[in-house]
Amino acid sequence: MQLVNNESSTKNEITLSIIVPVYNEREMLPIFHHHLAKVLSTLSEDSVEVIYVNDGSCDDSWDVMLDLNSHYANIECINLSRNFGKEAAMTAGIDNAKGQAVILLDADLQDPPELIPDMLTAWRKGFDVVNMKRSARLGESKFKCWSAHVYYRLLDHLSEVPLQKDVGDFRLLSRRVIEDIKKLSERSRYMKGILSWPGYKQTTISFERPERVAGETKWSFIQLVKLGLSGITAFSVKPLRISTWAGVLISASAFGYGLWILLKTLVFGEAVAGYPSMMLIQLFLGGVQLLAIGVLGEYVGRIYAEAKARPIYLIMDKERNTLVSSMVEK
Ligand code: UDP
Ligand code: MG
Repeated sequence: MQLVNNESSTKNEITLSIIVPVYNEREMLPIFHHHLAKVLSTLSEDSVEVIYVNDGSCDDSWDVMLDLNSHYANIECINLSRNFGKEAAMTAGIDNAKGQAVILLDADLQDPPELIPDMLTAWRKGFDVVNMKRSARLGESKFKCWSAHVYYRLLDHLSEVPLQKDVGDFRLLSRRVIEDIKKLSERSRYMKGILSWPGYKQTTISFERPERVAGETKWSFIQLVKLGLSGITAFSVKPLRISTWAGVLISASAFGYGLWILLKTLVFGEAVAGYPSMMLIQLFLGGVQLLAIGVLGEYVGRIYAEAKARPIYLIMDKERNTLVSSMVEK
């Protein structure tokens, strides 16, 4: 592996950038880096940088990063000013990466660094994007696996951009894809969609996603639902169209039913059915209307966030060492 000792001399030399978003991973970081360094030391011809993005951790993950930075070469540590979320942390990494190929990795070893050589081989064959498909998810609840399975398929169906099923953020992207992704400046970022948007030559490698090695998942059920909704509204306007069609269907049925009641009353002289059916229809229509307003609100909220055009993240500190040593511990 070629070694890199300062920023100015490395601008165009770095082959591979590895981006790791970090939120409260103090336990995981040393284990992760040790593991990663072992794999990177086998990549003979590559100059590599590892970019750790501290996403406003409440524990001392930043200090652990700085410690790694003082012991290992080719590390860049970015400290965001608060917790902006994984999507923003990955964006900060992408904006700062200098490599010709970029890989996004979780810090909990659920995206095995051992697969990096295979990803690089595919990239060298000329693929711009190497998608890592989860053929199995070990240690996750049946409900999470099932809901992820349904969600990926639903989103692929709704989205105007083809999205890869069962592929998370773990992928390799070539420099030209990264440059295109940097042009997507939207505030509400659904990275799985954003990373798929440019297209280019793609290939897929399957792997079994292992359990988290230490610590626990940072996503609550509500956060996952929010991320899911954000994915749908960011990459599809079909929910708006569905509510329009629901409106057309309900109005047409109501018109037909109204005619039927009129006929019954005028021709057969039957009394109009009373209170219960009226209430039922009113409540049903009220529910449908609120739902449609809610869907509309989701999109209006997005326009509001985009109109404010706030930065996606803020960087508080940035550290890059000038060590000339290998990725493995001194
Ligand atoms: N993460 C982050 N910011 C957050 C939440 C998570 O940077 O607000 C990082 C986290 O440290 C880890 C990666 O995103 O490196 C994936 O998080 P996690 O393992 O909790 O997600 P899961 O694997 O359960 O989907
Ligand atoms: Mg994880």
